[in-house]
Amino acid sequence: MNLVIFGAPGCGKGTQSERLIDRYGFYHISTGELLRDQIARKTPLGITADKYISQGHLIPDELMLSIIDDLLDSPEVKGKNIIFDGFPRTVKQAEELEHLLQKRGHAVDAVIGLEVPDEELIERLINRGKESGRADDNLETIKERLEVYHNQTQPLRKFYEERGSYKPINGSNAIDAIADDIAAHIEHLL
Ligand code: AMP
Repeated sequence: MNLVIFGAPGCGKGTQSERLIDRYGFYHISTGELLRDQIARKTPLGITADKYISQGHLIPDELMLSIIDDLLDSPEVKGKNIIFDGFPRTVKQAEELEHLLQKRGHAVDAVIGLEVPDEELIERLINRGKESGRADDNLETIKERLEVYHNQTQPLRKFYEERGSYKPINGSNAIDAIADDIAAHIEHLL
């Protein structure tokens, strides 16, 4: 099963992915985490990615897609149920993900959209920045990331609605309640 967990920065994608991993043992592909790891290790990819991430911009589609293409063939991912967290983020990425899965005999089975109002997202991200020290969780970059989200990523809601795979979930609820809502939706697919 291939599940996309979708929503704006700070909507709870990472937290809910952890719940799903504990409950069902998904393999977690978090593109943000993957890129932060490359930045920490100062790899060539990390050095390139840092320029975009620190500005609140998306890294180029071609780069992101080649990373995912390679990852899908790696032994630790092959044959697993996958959660895509933070990917796809553009219509181009969503179209290409369809192709990448299709050529391996798979598809996106469900898209969970965690819906949270912007004011709540800003508050959460500022608080997260204080705790995690994430360089992009400062007010200026947060505002840029939300703008990028509304312009480039939110159109995916319609993309997946048209394919009948989008499931909106109220992301303002308590963490446990959200996890239960997601479980209720995906259990019949597993
Ligand atoms: P996240 O941890 O998912 O909020 O991602 C942090 C940052 O990594 C984003 O603001 C982007 O700069 C970059 N990033 C993560 N995923 C993607 C993606 N699918 N496409 C392009 N850039 C990404």
